[in-house]
Amino acid sequence: MITGLPYRPCPLILAAPSGTGKTTIAHELVERHDHFVFSVSATTRRPRAGEIDGVDYEFVTREAFRAMIEADALVEWAEVHGNLYGTPRRNLEEAEARGEHVVLDIDVQGARQIRKRIPGAVLVFVFPPSADALWKRLTARGTEELQEVLRRLRAGRQELEEARHFDYIVVNDDLERSVVRVRAIVEAESHRPGRVRELEGVVEALRADIDALVESRGASGFPAG
Ligand code: 5GP
Repeated sequence: MITGLPYRPCPLILAAPSGTGKTTIAHELVERHDHFVFSVSATTRRPRAGEIDGVDYEFVTREAFRAMIEADALVEWAEVHGNLYGTPRRNLEEAEARGEHVVLDIDVQGARQIRKRIPGAVLVFVFPPSADALWKRLTARGTEELQEVLRRLRAGRQELEEARHFDYIVVNDDLERSVVRVRAIVEAESHRPGRVRELEGVVEALRADIDALVESRGASGFPAG
């Protein structure tokens, strides 16, 4: 009996204008659901208060970051708001080996690179419900200067252009709903034929069972009564 097929996990890419809340969605997915793992990026940005090295980011020097690029250790990287950010290739490899969906919280430049390099990746663009909501989130952090907030807003306005190249768009009007929607996207994506490991073998085994059944029933007919 087939109770569950061996599916390959999905690399899930979440991109959004800064302040949309995609990092919160990513962490909630990982927190609430088994088989989801957060991809910890490398960055040259300084840690914000409360951020933990190795948990939120791997905080590295520009030199160390350059060395990672040279060693081809990053599956994608980009300069965002003046700092370098990149996804260690091993994050994807380890998740795949463990059968876990790896969640990448990255910018649109990185998402574009992943689209080219990782054909099975699922790209979700998260929209803010309004410009005001962005403003509130960006200023609520209390960590950014006004000029920085304005820079992030302008960058976000630009990034919205890319939305049509993504697979899905989710409006983060409510955290609960957004987590459920993204989870549902991954659930559906996981059931694509291309993700079933050894699909040919599964199909052949079922067909062979049907053949055997047809043959035996053909010979013996319906049970009496
Ligand atoms: P923040 O400095 O606010 O944590 O992140 C700034 C931007 O960089 C966000 O849009 C975030 O998603 C993006 N980012 C974080 N990690 C990566 C990464 O590994 N690659 C790319 N391309 N962008 C990243």
